Amino acid sequence: MGKEQQVEHVRRGHVVVIPYPSQGHINPLLQFAKRLASKGLKATVATTHYTVKSIYAPNVGVEAISDGYDEGGFAYSPDTDTYLKAFKTFGSKTLSQLIRKFETTSSPITCVIYDAFFPWALDVAKQHGVYGAPFFTNSATVSSIFYRVHKGLLTLPIKMEDTPLSIPGLHKLDYPDLPGFLKSPDFYPAYLAMKLSQFDNLHQADWIFGNTFDDLELQLPVAERVGELWRGTLIGPMIPSAYLDGQIEGDIGYGASLWKPLDHKCKKWLELKPAGSVVYASFGSLVALTPKQMEEIAWGLKESGRHFLWVVKESERGKLPQGFIEETEEKGLVVTWCQQLELLAHKAIGCFVTHCGWNSTLEALCLGVPMVGVPKFADQYTNAKFIEEVWGVGVRAEEEDDKGTVGREELQLCLREVMDGERSQEMRKNAGKWRELAKKAVCQGGSSDNNINEFVADVCTGGKKRAKEEKHMNGF
Ligand code: UDP
Repeated sequence: MGKEQQVEHVRRGHVVVIPYPSQGHINPLLQFAKRLASKGLKATVATTHYTVKSIYAPNVGVEAISDGYDEGGFAYSPDTDTYLKAFKTFGSKTLSQLIRKFETTSSPITCVIYDAFFPWALDVAKQHGVYGAPFFTNSATVSSIFYRVHKGLLTLPIKMEDTPLSIPGLHKLDYPDLPGFLKSPDFYPAYLAMKLSQFDNLHQADWIFGNTFDDLELQLPVAERVGELWRGTLIGPMIPSAYLDGQIEGDIGYGASLWKPLDHKCKKWLELKPAGSVVYASFGSLVALTPKQMEEIAWGLKESGRHFLWVVKESERGKLPQGFIEETEEKGLVVTWCQQLELLAHKAIGCFVTHCGWNSTLEALCLGVPMVGVPKFADQYTNAKFIEEVWGVGVRAEEEDDKGTVGREELQLCLREVMDGERSQEMRKNAGKWRELAKKAVCQGGSSDNNINEFVADVCTGGKKRAKEEKHMNGF
């Protein structure tokens, strides 16, 4: 390769994107990598040895880094704290090696985009003199609340009498809407410590990315841009292009699956169902329901008399009531994993019973599917509030005990309300409206699309200066 061509490659920019190796993190970060590649950057995803084989995305390179548990990842570690520490040690070393490996090629890495769970990746980027930018996989509302805790502006635990939590520009949050860790910091201390450590070196970051868009979270007219509340460059929603803007040819799926999806079976089953008649239920990749909750969901779905398609991961299957699958064969299909987006896009789906993970929430919103929220953990409570009260695209199921169980009658009540209740039409109309706003954000000339274009131009031309000048906002 001649000198001029080499200079051209450097000018083009090469980003390495590092997701936390769970499905809900790989999906949006990989999608961002694809989006950047479609805009002319070279993009490489660096993920753990254990997950590297699960990723396939044309135009995006895939490289392995180590979390210290190359055979099996998190499942092989004794606990979260040990896992995150090992990831920092081994991840720093192997990321550094990866950057060095590319240094001598025609495409040296110019920017490290890392899951905000990995603040150490910014230190590695700086040691190598390249840009570093965290990617936050939850809402800007949740990020800005955690930031306030980090700054000592909110003291934990947040108690009932401290609510509603009212931050100018953000929607007010009542006690049940708060991220779980803020109410019970002792529930999962290692995870909370990691969430707060995201902010430790954020002042050194060259960009901060958020998987959301302005219209979605603001309380107008108090703030005009989420940037007034949270110094994030908003680039979301990161959903495969075919479902929103169609700018990336053939981009019909994320390109990563940690489990084998039973697509053919689901599609064949859905084809025979009337439009809008099926309840799709899934609790994401991480939630483990209590046996009681599993039973209540099972009987709630059955007794609703509706068609249902329920994702029950292999690890959860033992909690299903005995004989449930056989007994409900006529009305229901239980699968261990599916391509969720394909299902949500299917005309037979009328409603999504969801744990309200941020990706699932965005996906349903982008596809105009109304939801029944059954949040269980972390930011899911806050997302459920948005679903019901801010966007008006669903309801949040009420819990019947202090373990957070949603009973079978309550589930049926919620399904009636969303599928054919008085407000059902209104919810569908709202869902359609949010779908259009999401499309607008990522289509050419939309806010997220513009932000991505600006980043691509900056990373190629050294526009870091501009980003630095903005850093006074919110004290970052
Ligand atoms: N998902 C999937 N198939 C399933 C269930 C989930 O592809 O059967 C995907 C879903 O589309 C989403 C991700 O897994 O992108 C889950 O992310 P989310 O933030 O909703 O929840 P988490 O798993 O992180 O709790």
